[in-house]
Amino acid sequence: MSRALMLHEETPRARVVDLSDDQLPDLPVTVAIERSGLNYKDALAITGRGKIVRELPFVPGIDFAGRVEASDSPDYQPGDEVLLTGWGVGERHWGGLAERMRVKPEWLVKRPANLSAEQAMAFGTAGLTAMLCVMRLEEAGLTPEQGPVIVTGATGGVGSWAVQMLARQGFEVHAVSGKAEQREWLESLGASEVHLRSDFEDKGRPLEKSRWAGAVDTAGGQVLANLLAQMNYDGKVAAVGLAAGADLPTSVMPFILRGVSLLGVDSVMINAERRQKVWQRLADLPDEMHAQMQLETVGLESLAERAEAMIDGRVSGRVLLDPT
Ligand code: NDP
Repeated sequence: MSRALMLHEETPRARVVDLSDDQLPDLPVTVAIERSGLNYKDALAITGRGKIVRELPFVPGIDFAGRVEASDSPDYQPGDEVLLTGWGVGERHWGGLAERMRVKPEWLVKRPANLSAEQAMAFGTAGLTAMLCVMRLEEAGLTPEQGPVIVTGATGGVGSWAVQMLARQGFEVHAVSGKAEQREWLESLGASEVHLRSDFEDKGRPLEKSRWAGAVDTAGGQVLANLLAQMNYDGKVAAVGLAAGADLPTSVMPFILRGVSLLGVDSVMINAERRQKVWQRLADLPDEMHAQMQLETVGLESLAERAEAMIDGRVSGRVLLDPT
């Protein structure tokens, strides 16, 4: 038997249940989970406020780190330290908010030796995605000499890692947050200035004064539209989230008059080679970056409440599950 957070049709939607081994998915690798992350997508699934999960009952959780317990795959042996993000796990396939899960070997990544399960999930999908944004901007040619960069949803998982990573790369980082009280923390992550989210929420003009060479946007909606209008000539924007909405009420002006690039970032379906490369780059970041991160570790019983708080924008940093 092992415990899991299970979503049901009936209320209460999210309940902690005991599962026998034959109730787990019939997949080749069994992982004993040491840490999982609670992500925005998980919060949408748990609260039912987003169409993330199609079939109930369902175990959510889009990422986890653990140890292989049993394996029918030649690629993994019992005891191997692994992690998993994406591939529709926690959306179409049962996920990581559980003590134990069975998964396909091709979804797993061998955990770099210098990364503990806790460190791996302190990054989790959020850290992986933030690094993908940094790489996307770098690959498009963005350098610190070109001017300041701006990060929205800065106290969130993706945003707070993006602030730290960009600051460490030598960028002047501006953070946008709805939480004025987190200004000091954002500055400790490397933000040189913190702007209130409300300054970016009203409809602006198609082109505003140029301010930013680069941007990581977790918000979407009007916030992203306003960022696009404020980009420098040849500015680059990594669009990664929709915390403010899935629409994009903009015009072609930033693209055709300033040559602005809008770069899409997805962490779910990236290929195994890029995935391993990103995880190694994360593992090679200095340990002190973890010390700056706000980490809250909770048990299975607290997840439903933390998911509500996350959707209401009351969570800063990363929420981890210790399922034991
Ligand atoms: P979090 O909940 O940790 O962070 C989201 C942050 O967005 C909040 O902390 C808050 O930061 C800000 N926010 C909340 N409500 C609003 C709002 N109405 N308008 C603008 N900003 C708001 O989530 P994650 O960091 O895990 O994810 C951030 C976004 O990125 C989500 O939309 C998620 O779905 C997406 N994502 C996409 C991935 C991909 O592969 N493309 C992978 C991972 C995440 P503050 O108070 O500081 O403004």
